[in-house]
Amino acid sequence: MLLGRRLLNLLEKCITMAQLKQAHAQFITGGLGVHDYVLSRLVAFCSNPNRGSLNYACLLFDQIENRPICIWNTMLKALLNNGALRETMKIYHRMLQANVIPDNYTLPYVLKACAHMCDHEFGEEAHDNALKLGFGSDPYVANTLILMYMACGRTDSAIKVFNCSPTKTLVSWTVMVSGYAKQGDVDSAWSMFEGAPVRDLKLWGAMVACYAQNNCSKEALQLFRLMQAEGIKPDEAILGSVLTACAQLGALDLGRWVHKYANIHWGMDLSIKLSTALVDMYAKCGSLKESKQLFDKMSQRDVVSWNVMIGGLAMHGDGYGAFALFTKMQQMGFSPNDLTFIALFTACSHSGLVEEGRELFEKMSIVYGIKPQHEHYACVVDFLSRAGRFQEAKEMLKRMHGPEEAIAWRAMLSASRNHRDIGFSELARNHLLQLEPHSGVYSLLSNIYAAAGKWYLSGKTMTMMKENGVSKTPGSSSIEVNGFVHEFVAGERKHPLAKEIRKMWEEINRQLRLEGYKPDISGSAFDVDEEEKESLVSEHSEKLAIAFGFMSHGPNVPIRVIKNLRVCGDCHSVTKLVSKVFGREIIVRDRIRFHHFNGGSCSCMDYW
Ligand code: ZN
Ligand code: ZN
Repeated sequence: MLLGRRLLNLLEKCITMAQLKQAHAQFITGGLGVHDYVLSRLVAFCSNPNRGSLNYACLLFDQIENRPICIWNTMLKALLNNGALRETMKIYHRMLQANVIPDNYTLPYVLKACAHMCDHEFGEEAHDNALKLGFGSDPYVANTLILMYMACGRTDSAIKVFNCSPTKTLVSWTVMVSGYAKQGDVDSAWSMFEGAPVRDLKLWGAMVACYAQNNCSKEALQLFRLMQAEGIKPDEAILGSVLTACAQLGALDLGRWVHKYANIHWGMDLSIKLSTALVDMYAKCGSLKESKQLFDKMSQRDVVSWNVMIGGLAMHGDGYGAFALFTKMQQMGFSPNDLTFIALFTACSHSGLVEEGRELFEKMSIVYGIKPQHEHYACVVDFLSRAGRFQEAKEMLKRMHGPEEAIAWRAMLSASRNHRDIGFSELARNHLLQLEPHSGVYSLLSNIYAAAGKWYLSGKTMTMMKENGVSKTPGSSSIEVNGFVHEFVAGERKHPLAKEIRKMWEEINRQLRLEGYKPDISGSAFDVDEEEKESLVSEHSEKLAIAFGFMSHGPNVPIRVIKNLRVCGDCHSVTKLVSKVFGREIIVRDRIRFHHFNGGSCSCMDYW
């Protein structure tokens, strides 16, 4: 008896799988026999995805003779948390065959598995069971039913459950808002949010995330400020969404505020996820220095953190830095994944590292065991084309199909124009005309890429959307002043200081002319977007944003501008000149990459 109690105590104190296996062995060698209760405790331990072992949990589970409902539930939870979705469903079926009656904990696990697999048929079967068993009014079951139907795109069914649920909780509203967010239906999410009787942190968080995920960054930040005005303190999840919005808008000051806030509240315990989001925000807001500093200070990292930092270096044109970090990553025992290669190929594109890129592509499957996907081919076509190696790019294109093929042909078209290679330019154009994918494909693809952190491909897709007249978004540039983001379109008239800003630009222009600058009105050397062609080059949005930066910042503050399209040739050469004549550091992020202008030259070496 005493031994039994001592062993149970030992079991409670286990931290690692090795300790657990030892305790398990002692039960057996102690001749105590292993009771179902002990086995249940063991299964519960093994099912923790952070420290346990799913295989061991399954082995133990099969040894238990009389499984109480709680052990079935523990097993379902273990499989779900470990992403073994089909197995979750199989165990549920085994449970029904064994005549065990599910409870209100069982069904949510099953429904969540259906949601992850978008399997609405299985979900409907579970729904029927829930009704038969009398869980129709259980709030926990109802909320996971809504989650499942929204995830499977069965919005009508979700609304039905929502409306019929007599015990709606705030979670029901939150699940609906998150469901609409994933479907990209921002308006419906907002109506749901507005209609909620009260709002808690989770509901605010779902709505801010909805805006941030769907390219409504300004709205995300506005809503965040409103939430703070209501006295609600943010959590890590909502700060993550705020950082996504800051990165999108280039709102560096607000991003820095989030960093300070996180330091005060979590200090050294800052999660890897939030630290990585901060590293990403700094890089995308143009402060590679702060991004690197924070990355170097991180005590724990995961593969996402490495990918974000490599991607940051790539975006800023530091190709060698990106490759050096790739080496370091492996030295520290991290294995690259498919996104690591996207980041590295992007670095090759922006820094002209063609040989390095080719070599890496060869190694990708042989050394690292990662099969190249269409998006990898698209990146390779891009850096080959930029270097004028069209024949090799064409060989790559033979292996592709699907929407990424269009992206790759587009990259070849743009590069062959710059290289004035008429043959390949014609070839690419003809292929593009044939492919002509539907508009929906582009925006969907762009969102998927953006959500997956494939910043570069997202930008490329948006550019294609514009090329095909799918999106009518005008060119615009934004600049943050005192924590607020000011946005300018070409020929801006609406800004309260519009007149002063134009005067400022005229003054800058006057000094540039003294230095011999003549505007490049052809604009055709680069394929400038149509809207930009229509307006006067002197009124392009980034020039107005730079002028506003001169008015608003002290002389030693770098000017950071975010442009939603590619910078045109004239704006690029003017900005170089401004950086020289006025001795001013100017950092411009366009759709594809960063340009650091300093002393008359740009970090892209005119390669963009
Ligand atoms: Zn321009
Ligand atoms: Zn540049």
